[in-house]
Amino acid sequence: MQLSDDCFAADDHLMTTAEALNLLSGRIEPIGTQEMIPLRQSRKRVLAEDVISDYSVPPKGNSAVDGYSFAFESLRNGQDTSFRVVDRAAAGHPATVVPGRGEAIRVFTGAVMPSGHDTVAMQEDCEIDGDNVVIPPGLSPGANSRRAGEDVEKGDVVLRRGQLLRAQDLGIAASVGRTELSVYQSVRVAVFSTGDEIREPGKLLPEGAIYDSNRYVLMSLLEALPVEVIDLGILPDDPDAVAVALRSAAQEQDILLTSGGVSVGEEDHVKNAVSENGSLYFWRLAIKPGRPLALGQVDGTPFVGLPGNPVAAMVTFIRFARPLLLRLAGGTDLEPKLYRVRADFSHRKKRNRREWVRARLKSGKDGTPEAEKFAREGAGILRSLVESDGLIELPEDMTEVVPGTMVEFLPFAEVIS
Ligand code: AMP
Ligand code: MG
Repeated sequence: MQLSDDCFAADDHLMTTAEALNLLSGRIEPIGTQEMIPLRQSRKRVLAEDVISDYSVPPKGNSAVDGYSFAFESLRNGQDTSFRVVDRAAAGHPATVVPGRGEAIRVFTGAVMPSGHDTVAMQEDCEIDGDNVVIPPGLSPGANSRRAGEDVEKGDVVLRRGQLLRAQDLGIAASVGRTELSVYQSVRVAVFSTGDEIREPGKLLPEGAIYDSNRYVLMSLLEALPVEVIDLGILPDDPDAVAVALRSAAQEQDILLTSGGVSVGEEDHVKNAVSENGSLYFWRLAIKPGRPLALGQVDGTPFVGLPGNPVAAMVTFIRFARPLLLRLAGGTDLEPKLYRVRADFSHRKKRNRREWVRARLKSGKDGTPEAEKFAREGAGILRSLVESDGLIELPEDMTEVVPGTMVEFLPFAEVIS
């Protein structure tokens, strides 16, 4: 995919989260290449077709329990009814006898409903009397039977184009007989870190150096998406080396993703390498944590530069890079779901910016989930993410949280599984 030079152009005003997300989805077009792949491989891919069922599921009415089937209209009102049992039907083995009036059939769960029968009595409720079964009163018409098409009617749209496929989605595709699905091609994402202080774990750590953690967080977060991760490792603070690596990745990958090294005003090689071989814009977002988001293109391939601080990198990935990637991948449901929970902490914030607080969920006195804030707030405290279940997203207009305030919670599980 080729981007125009000014695709990410934005003026210098402080941008809200909503505005940034709108710009991203408005200016990024899905890559759009489709392929047919085996069902078994389609989890976490974005569906490129509406799946319309050629069948009803179940195709025939069947028994929901082990028991005795009969025609409801033959039941005597308010008293026991005795039926002669004339045949048996199990799952995959329909009855061969066509029952007459006043006749029942021994049925097992999943057995096709015998002809003329609409209701089943559970075996625990029945009494056997020689060749007869005695059925107590009180059943309603159709009890304990599943009607044909109860799950899916022929012609129903069971899955929609643009959705990220989950386990149960593959199940319904299989249940309507599909062996392959049309999906969008995975987005190839090149991930790299930069900085002369950043080292690969396992290597010696010279004085003043730190191990790369962001790349491991980002590559793992990416694995929940319809992407192919290309690990470019750590690039040195050398303008030519960075330019060569970025341009060669831009030839083959769909998007370049980095963290750190792109702050405004910093003497930085990534910044120069990107702007000299394409374009780079800094979006001033009204958010905390997270400094500017860097967006641009290298030889027409999109570039996303996240902040270097580990908390800011993960938060901005989840809230901005992830929707952008899903959009590229053809997804329609771009933003993670948030859930209202009760706060069990106090917190003050500046008006007019959105803030994410790391929190752990616990069960409150009445069983309602309550969020406990991680005590330390620094954007470099990776343990605040490790010891939390998710992020509390505080809106622009809120200035204070007190115990009992209802807040929006974004579980990490929403974006990781
Ligand atoms: P920067 O945006 O490059 O100024 O980085 C901000 C902070 O994040 C600095 O303390 C960096 O050392 C740190 N940082 C940058 N990249 C990484 C990384 N890949 N892993 C861990 N920390 C990083
Ligand atoms: Mg740096």
